[in-house]
Amino acid sequence: AAKRAGGSGFAIFEPSMEQDSRAQLELQHDLRGAIERGELVLYYQPKIDGRSGQITGVEALVRWQHSSKGVISPAVFIPIAERFGLIGALGQWVIDEACRQLRVWLDQGLRMRVSINMSAHQLRQENLVQRIRRSLHAHTVDPALLTIEIIESVLMEDEAVRAFAGLAQLGVSLSIDDFGIGYCNFALLRKLPVTQLKVDRSLFTDIQHSSDALAVVDAIVKMAHALGLRVVAEGVETDAQRDMLLALRCDELQGYLFAKPMSAERLTLWAMGDEGVHITDFRPSIYAA
Ligand code: C2E
Ligand code: MG
Ligand code: MG
Ligand code: MG
Repeated sequence: AAKRAGGSGFAIFEPSMEQDSRAQLELQHDLRGAIERGELVLYYQPKIDGRSGQITGVEALVRWQHSSKGVISPAVFIPIAERFGLIGALGQWVIDEACRQLRVWLDQGLRMRVSINMSAHQLRQENLVQRIRRSLHAHTVDPALLTIEIIESVLMEDEAVRAFAGLAQLGVSLSIDDFGIGYCNFALLRKLPVTQLKVDRSLFTDIQHSSDALAVVDAIVKMAHALGLRVVAEGVETDAQRDMLLALRCDELQGYLFAKPMSAERLTLWAMGDEGVHITDFRPSIYAA
């Protein structure tokens, strides 16, 4: 069944996965050929500096343009890729594509920073650091332009944590995604070469009405700053949220209020044209309803 994704302006295919393992099998079968068929695409969502309102970088978010089912969300196919052993190839494609795009932007005079998402699964892969290094090198991209986002629960896994050291040594930045809703090893957080925390949107959805929400975000920002980390609020949708988050000294904001994830071409125009940060109804033309 295709349904409208929460305001994102295009249809997203979502099998009811628990019941429908046949749909899963079908998808994993299709996913095997999706990379070669060029059906994956990276969309980019800006992060905005809280002080200047300028773009500080973009997060790469993968989409799958299925030939018959329409656009499929990563929330659906990343778990399938992991379950069926396809995440290695998919992750490699994301790394290569992000580096390729970074090079395109550099050639256009845009020194963009790009974040890519990685699951615990991917961090456990043995030659991950080498593969990232090779891809950066192939496109002559400065590692400092790349950030890797990992959810906090990964800090519970020794094996994944070991990959951090190698990544930091390579010169890429590390960011903790969806911070505040999982399990976090605070002792480790202090020691790891992490530079950024992304506060999950569920923590501040009702922040203008809830003193508890306010207290939690306030505490996270203070702790993060005490540890020398930058705080990004992700999933900002309203002016009220933005105002509260800025008052609490969040360093960067990201969310539909500023811009939805968009194609590289569109992002280039957005960043170069300085269209302002209040694009709230962007519809990618290739997915326009
Ligand atoms: P995430 O990294 O936490 O990304 C944030 C998600 O929230 C994205 O969903 C983004 O489109 C959405 N979002 C952004 N602003 C707003 C907002 O204002 N309101 C709301 N309600 N949502 C907002 P998306 O693109 O569907 O990605 C879902 C998840 O899939 C990501 O969560 C990430 O964990 C995973 N993912 C995406 N791309 C990749 C990838 O290349 N590799 C891996 N391993 N995972 C990926
Ligand atoms: Mg992320
Ligand atoms: Mg997140
Ligand atoms: Mg998330």
